[in-house]
Amino acid sequence: SLRQIAFYGKGGIGKSTTSQNIAAALGEAGRKLLVVGCDPKADCTSLLTGELFQETVLEKVRSQSRNAAPNAPVEGIVHTGFADIACVESGGPEPGVGCAGRGIICAIELIERQGIIHEGLDYVFYDVLGDVVCGGFAMPIREGKAQEIYLVTSGEMMSLYAANNIATGILKFAASGRTRLGGIICNCRNVEGEVELVHTFAEELGTSVVGVIPRDNIVQASELNKQTVIQYAPESEQADAYRMLARTIEANERFSVPTPLTRERLRELALAIAQEGMDASEK
Ligand code: ADP
Ligand code: SF4
Ligand code: MG
Repeated sequence: SLRQIAFYGKGGIGKSTTSQNIAAALGEAGRKLLVVGCDPKADCTSLLTGELFQETVLEKVRSQSRNAAPNAPVEGIVHTGFADIACVESGGPEPGVGCAGRGIICAIELIERQGIIHEGLDYVFYDVLGDVVCGGFAMPIREGKAQEIYLVTSGEMMSLYAANNIATGILKFAASGRTRLGGIICNCRNVEGEVELVHTFAEELGTSVVGVIPRDNIVQASELNKQTVIQYAPESEQADAYRMLARTIEANERFSVPTPLTRERLRELALAIAQEGMDASEK
């Protein structure tokens, strides 16, 4: 049955790169997917479609006649990308006007009404901007659109801090809904003790690391060619890392209500790892 999955994490951490590569890996294995970009930058699906900026749902809605019936079909918001993956960009409100989170929910509800989200799909992916879990960006969780969440993080403090905040948001809405944390994706920045730190973080959060993605220049090379690594370098080790992560997510059965860390505990963890690093380099 249809699984609706959201990817959250600090801006710039690699949500869009990682989620599109997972989508591409599932797509090449024959799964049917829809990827919904939930970032006003509208750059969540560009590696799948090869287009830099597609017309967003909210732009379309704004340009439609005010007299149009509420359920009138909105043409041209779905772009078919690699492996027949359907791609949609929610877009954002007019700059300086309105709530971006509210806009995202409007866009999701519109694509639901238009039948773009349907039971014939295997997966819907939501790629959500999420430095801060303000009420707006927690919407896809709050409204129960996505019930399975993955947090993308590196071992950097700011990124773990953002992931921990999002976990707090999930905890808050898990009580009233069915939203659960599926796990942590470690997208490496190659900081000292990174993988160990992210594992400890996941464990204390009551979840697991579903994949460790190495930092590799092949990602940038693929991006310059407006493709996922899966498409641009299908034989590479990096592509295999994304495929393995996709298989783990597909087989995942561990969904938990997170137990967020205190700020003190987070700091303590980071300090301990930094100390180990310094001790190691002194030897
Ligand atoms: P987000 O969607 O979280 O804002 P992006 O997916 O746009 O982040 O990634 C930000 C930048 O980091 C991109 O330029 C991307 O090429 C790079 N990047 C992401 N993951 C990796 C990786 N594993 N190795 C190398 N570069 C990466
Ligand atoms: Fe922006 Fe979040 Fe406030 Fe909405 S709730 S206006 S997205 S900060
Ligand atoms: Mg992004």
